[in-house]
Amino acid sequence: MKYISTRGQAPVLNFEEAMLTGLARDGGLYVPETIPQMSHADIAALEGLSYEEAAFRVMRPFIGDTFNDDEFNQIIAKAYAGFGHAARAPLVQLDSGHFLLELFHGPTLAFKDFAMQLIGQLFEAALKRNGRRVCIVGATSGDTGSAAIEAFRGLKAVDVFILYPHGRVSEVQRRQMTTPSESNVHALAMDGHFDDCQARLKDMFNDFEFRDAVGLAGVNSINWARVLAQVVYYFTSAVSLGAPHRKVSFTVPTGNFGDIFAGYIAKRMGLPIDRLVVATNQNDILHRCLSGGEYKPDGVVPSISPSMDIQVSSNFERALFEAYGRDGNAVSQLMDELKAGGFNVSQGALQVLRENFDSGRCSEEETRTTIREAYARTGELLCPHSAVGVKVAKEQRVAGTPMITLATAHPAKFPAAVEDSSGVHPPLPDRMSDLYERDERVTRVENDLDALETLIRERTGN
Ligand SMILES: *Cc1c(COP(=O)(O)O)cnc(C)c1O
Repeated sequence: MKYISTRGQAPVLNFEEAMLTGLARDGGLYVPETIPQMSHADIAALEGLSYEEAAFRVMRPFIGDTFNDDEFNQIIAKAYAGFGHAARAPLVQLDSGHFLLELFHGPTLAFKDFAMQLIGQLFEAALKRNGRRVCIVGATSGDTGSAAIEAFRGLKAVDVFILYPHGRVSEVQRRQMTTPSESNVHALAMDGHFDDCQARLKDMFNDFEFRDAVGLAGVNSINWARVLAQVVYYFTSAVSLGAPHRKVSFTVPTGNFGDIFAGYIAKRMGLPIDRLVVATNQNDILHRCLSGGEYKPDGVVPSISPSMDIQVSSNFERALFEAYGRDGNAVSQLMDELKAGGFNVSQGALQVLRENFDSGRCSEEETRTTIREAYARTGELLCPHSAVGVKVAKEQRVAGTPMITLATAHPAKFPAAVEDSSGVHPPLPDRMSDLYERDERVTRVENDLDALETLIRERTGN
């Protein structure tokens, strides 16, 4: 299995290289050269398997010869052993034909654990084998950072630096990043928004001298291995509701487009998905783009669903690449226009996008109302991100096809918004109930590339 860049100018890599590299050297994102197919019979055979067994079958064709079957089975087993639910990704029913896929039973209580725990084990196995050391730098609006730190803390061959926007993550998110005491963990609170953190991260990757000197590796949602890990739960949940014998739809609270793009890959592999619905909060650039074709960032307005507060949706580039018939030059040109302020998707490409994705938006008030109503009607406490999904899913449901809304975080990760809306304080699960007592360790940094690079060089001795 080979991986190619969405901008068409970077070397073609195998799975291991694409995973360790993250962002391609031409600024693009890696995608598989061809998308493996699962037949009706292959999908039907997933029924009754454990999450881990299903994960092996869905992901195996993408791995190539990077790991043998035994190694890959062990990697998957370790990745999901720390989850607090035997089913890993259980489904609960909200209403007739409407289901919630609970993706928050991992160690940091958000769906990002599915990908990050797997990536931690994949990196460890690959680096151990070839005696290399890497420096992982990630940018986070909260959940990626805590998931990355949890996945990499204490590993021998990895330093992990996480940039988060100072004062703009929830207390639980911050504490999950600042309380691990392992010396390979570095939490950096940067002045600015998430998009600023993400921009500095991209700058570091584009500084090849720095990138090579420190052995920079990326685990942001641009990393193909993350998208791949997320493909699995589309299969397991759809099969639970009768796929491949019937179609299902999904609504996905979306920011960087990684999670929903995983659903698109599942569909391209053969899973009978009827509709994939993008749900955005008031930062609705994706909804606007899918509606009218114009992609024009106009500034982030902080919301109560902060992990979706973005205007530059990095994985959307992968969807554009497909919509433009895998034309890397066309994608490069759009990304140049984006640097200058924005772009318009061509009519043909917009049509392709709209054949694959529906979309909707949820205001702050609607988010609160949805949390309150869902609790009153079902006893289910939704985190604000999941509530955005539930609201949009209700509008987009079609009778006869089950709708699965992805619940992306545990309500206790966003206790203030949940309590304001429902009157109920969501307790942390027992296994992390001492989070508020642990000591914090964090470095404040400016929004400045040189200062960041200097700090990382010092801490890693490069
Ligand atoms: C990251 C995140 C999202 C957005 O996911 P993308 O893959 O970036 O679209 C939604 N909800 C929560 C809780 C998240 O942490």
